[in-house]
Amino acid sequence: MQIARIEVFQVDLPLREGSYSWSGNKSIRTYDSTVVRIATDTGLAGFGETCPLGAAYLPAHAAGARAGLAELAPHLIGQDPRELGVVNRLMERHLKGHPYVKSAIDMACWDLLGLAADMPVVTLLGGRHGTSLPLYRAISQDNPQRMAQSVAAFRAEGYRRFQIKVGGDPDVDIVRIRTVAAGLEAGEVLVADANTGWLAHQAARVLRAIDDIDLYVEQPCATYEACLNIRRRTRLPMVLDEVIDGVGMLLRAHADQAMDVVNIKLGKVGGITAARQLRDLCVSMGIAMTIEDSGGGDIVTAAIAHLAQSTPQASLFSVSDCNSYVTTELAEGAPRRIEGQMSAPTAPGLGVKPRPDVLGKPVFTTA
Ligand code: MG
Repeated sequence: MQIARIEVFQVDLPLREGSYSWSGNKSIRTYDSTVVRIATDTGLAGFGETCPLGAAYLPAHAAGARAGLAELAPHLIGQDPRELGVVNRLMERHLKGHPYVKSAIDMACWDLLGLAADMPVVTLLGGRHGTSLPLYRAISQDNPQRMAQSVAAFRAEGYRRFQIKVGGDPDVDIVRIRTVAAGLEAGEVLVADANTGWLAHQAARVLRAIDDIDLYVEQPCATYEACLNIRRRTRLPMVLDEVIDGVGMLLRAHADQAMDVVNIKLGKVGGITAARQLRDLCVSMGIAMTIEDSGGGDIVTAAIAHLAQSTPQASLFSVSDCNSYVTTELAEGAPRRIEGQMSAPTAPGLGVKPRPDVLGKPVFTTA
């Protein structure tokens, strides 16, 4: 099987809530998503998707995804997409960094491997653990009352895990956390995600002020060193996200006992192959995981579901259903949330069929 043609599409996915805001007054209204279709000489075609959260969250942006794919595509024509290790090695050789670009290619190749094997990706990744995935809902940064109302609205949709966006004014963040925590019900999980937004002195103040609440704190500060400083000063369980961008940082942070949970995003680390390596290390080291991506629609959500459901349940802290944040249905067959849960598709490959009317015409094709 050889890659014969790579088509790249741009898709706007408007956010269901109108906008999404996090630390530093950053906000977006629409996911600018990039879809890759890899067609082979056998007639089989696989799909991948990558979607940075705007241009100011991670070192990634949507136009960069398309530029990177234009750079990589000519080097992949003629390659066997089922040989994930060879494909990833080639991508490393021809484009330094830019893991979010490679994620879309890697995802499409996993889709093709599954289609060729007539097995769902979850099976190829080790098999299905349990019947459904524990979803969490990110609560956009807003005033404390509106954030508490948002939690109540998403509870009504079945969520039991909530991640509130803080990392703003420390005094307001203390009220945000206290207000939301006061409305929680038994068995619910609360995470306060600062998304790198606090300086160490601010994080220290906030975490001391809410130290009596049962919650997790995620990525308090921008640098690893500042997060480690705060980790050593708080009793609260710690999640690291933005600074854990690969194996090196994961192992360093584990050696430092810097976190209890890590957040693994497909685009942040370079796709399913790279995320699987981190996932397997985390399972071995006893670190729980949130498995998700920075954004995207049905294809990204299917990829997340396959990786998450092939993860032992005890190691899975939470999962994001990215596609339920947007109004556009990009593909048929994608996981759909039911009562705060979803599961990986059972059809071969990623199990999704993108809708031609949503994809439109490719922005470019390499053959
Ligand atoms: Mg996070």
